[in-house]
Amino acid sequence: MTDLPTSRRLPKAKIETLGGRPLKPSTLMMGHGYDPTLSEGALKPPIFLTSTFAFPSAADGKRHFEQLTGKRPGDAAGLVYSRFNGPNQEILEDRLSVWDGAEDSLVFSSGMSAIATLLLAYCSQGDVIVHSGPLYAATESYIAKILSRFGIGYVDFPAGATRDELDAVIEQAQDLAAQQGGKIAMIYLESPANPTNALVDIEAVAAARDAVLGEDGAAATPIAIDNTFLGPLWQRPLDHGADIVVYSLTKYAGGHSDLVAGGLSGGQRWMDPVRSLRNTMGTICDPNTAWMLLRSLETLELRMTRAGENAEKVCAMLKDHPKVAGLGYLGLNSDARQQDIFARHCTGAGSTFSLFIKGGEAESFAFLDALRIAKLAVSLGGTETLASHPAAMTHLSVPDARKAMLGITDNLVRISIGIEDPDDLIADFEQALSMV
Ligand SMILES: *Cc1c(COP(=O)(O)O)cnc(C)c1O
Repeated sequence: MTDLPTSRRLPKAKIETLGGRPLKPSTLMMGHGYDPTLSEGALKPPIFLTSTFAFPSAADGKRHFEQLTGKRPGDAAGLVYSRFNGPNQEILEDRLSVWDGAEDSLVFSSGMSAIATLLLAYCSQGDVIVHSGPLYAATESYIAKILSRFGIGYVDFPAGATRDELDAVIEQAQDLAAQQGGKIAMIYLESPANPTNALVDIEAVAAARDAVLGEDGAAATPIAIDNTFLGPLWQRPLDHGADIVVYSLTKYAGGHSDLVAGGLSGGQRWMDPVRSLRNTMGTICDPNTAWMLLRSLETLELRMTRAGENAEKVCAMLKDHPKVAGLGYLGLNSDARQQDIFARHCTGAGSTFSLFIKGGEAESFAFLDALRIAKLAVSLGGTETLASHPAAMTHLSVPDARKAMLGITDNLVRISIGIEDPDDLIADFEQALSMV
């Protein structure tokens, strides 16, 4: 590095604790993982638009590839080619890890490319995936329709399953894996489930895995969880026995409905095989998206806190409204089992919920079409309030029997509350309900 002019102050050393106290994620989001001296002193990281990186010497280049291919011990650190990684993505990965207290994170071009790369990295022919249900529709069809073509089976269980039910399902998966000549490759959860908002008892899943599979089996069988709906602010699954956390960063983490990206966080040993497959396939997110996510993460706590408070206020009005038949909001769940899971796992009720309008599709459409502030769109976790109709939109292709089983009825409206003024939102919902 060239000498800095004496007038320019050197940046302070990387700080992760102060007076022995670890700094909170919302503080670390402003600087963690970025050294301005490496970028002309720029306070914010530039966007590194480059497909490849120059080696300092031929010997350095050789050493990197020796490490990459396992011919030399040690980590193939450093930047080589942008299908593998780049400075913006690396800073983003460092900061994403902070939220879940993870050793390592990986970022992807979408939530689905994160999920697809993760499952492919862990599953071989004959293996079985144990998963909670329902899952995000694309995840469910990736497992049932794509991975099955390669001889990978699955066994699923309802999100709220008890410890006894979980033991039974893992035993059933073990038998299926033995028949197919494979193993249980992964236990894959989604909590809360979309669109039912049913929570999975992560602690019970981990206990069931440990009891049924024994020490060695359990140590080789990761529990992954899609935490898109509550993470990373309202639920930290790694603290409750999960090994890998999955995100559609498109939602709350991105938070402005202006990008598509995905992320994984977890222990180094769980991330390494996924990183290697991501290097092969190139499912990493691009530098511009990574830069936008760095900006998003700076306001993540502010945005999610406000959205959560807004949702609480809006739901307080909706719960007793004469045109409302019911509410699927985590903060008002009366089921004892679900309340218990919520109390142990969650620090907030989120801002995405189901609203059941009295009537059917016609009444729900009348409500949706009358909304003036809330926008009619799928997705969630953005600054703006969104509303959609799962039965007629995201879940249109789900067979009627399965829809009925999942409680996806014609009077179900899906709401994602944003960060607008809460009184304006309440006024909008009230006037739209009056049009039903
Ligand atoms: C949106 C979403 C996904 C998929 O993420 P993309 O970024 O759209 O690929 C996966 N899981 C959940 C729970 C989601 O809401």
